[in-house]
Amino acid sequence: MIFKAITGGAFLQWRKKMLLKGGRKVDFDWLLDIAAGVCWGKLQSIILNPENFISLEISTEELEVIWESHLKDQTPLQYLVSKCPWRDIELEVSADALIPRQETEFLIDFALKKVANIDFGRWADLGTGSGPIAVSLAKSLPNWNGHAVDISNEALELAKRNLKSILPNANVKFSLGDWWEPLKRWRGNFDLVLSNPPYIPSDLIEALEPIVKNHEPLIALDGGEDGMHASRKIILGALNGLAKGGWLILEHHYDQSEKITSFMKEIGMGEVSFEKDLSGIKRYAICSKK
Ligand code: GLN
Repeated sequence: MIFKAITGGAFLQWRKKMLLKGGRKVDFDWLLDIAAGVCWGKLQSIILNPENFISLEISTEELEVIWESHLKDQTPLQYLVSKCPWRDIELEVSADALIPRQETEFLIDFALKKVANIDFGRWADLGTGSGPIAVSLAKSLPNWNGHAVDISNEALELAKRNLKSILPNANVKFSLGDWWEPLKRWRGNFDLVLSNPPYIPSDLIEALEPIVKNHEPLIALDGGEDGMHASRKIILGALNGLAKGGWLILEHHYDQSEKITSFMKEIGMGEVSFEKDLSGIKRYAICSKK
């Protein structure tokens, strides 16, 4: 790894110059942390001791190119640096898949609580994208069989690369296809299925922020007319796909809790419940097969 040394004072001046170009300070400091290895603690010690030299993992010139390209057309920094931290892992990301969101991290916590007593089981991550859920489950449930599904071959390749670099020996099968469709062979055998499907109603897509709308894959965001096309398919599939007592945990849009949980009950799922995100919004639906 190449380290570029610079005095703290010169670095702070340069940071000020970059921030005057525009953009948000929190985003710039995220870039310093993820691309150059200058975390918040390091930044604080530079501010306190500007005469000390600091080392960067990439040059200020390279950082400047990334920052300008982010300011020019609002390309997400995660795509520009091809990295995104998520829970305790760092994933490679690209415009082939949605940038893993913080709120999706909770899906793993709910899941691990539900299956705490099962030593060997089978999980699936439907619509894996860059693979955050799949990699985390493989890490936390090392004795289980895992399946990661996506309809985009590019996303699936990205997820495979992430698993291989983080957990080279993990037992995960990758399948290309539409939600449950490529998992027919294991129908009735899943103890845990997680998904963060596209759930934004089609007519709201236009109103999304340019940083999302112009750069992230539509297929990972657009949930059809009412935003629940994929969610309904996933819930219906769970009726035959899950093992008896198996769990389905889904992320959904801010106003879909009532509709999703009612649908789960209507088709005969048991133990239907919801969970809230950090903003107090009902964001996750949970059910099990009776
Ligand atoms: N939470 C994402 C957003 O607001 C949407 C992700 C999804 O549709 N699954 O951009």
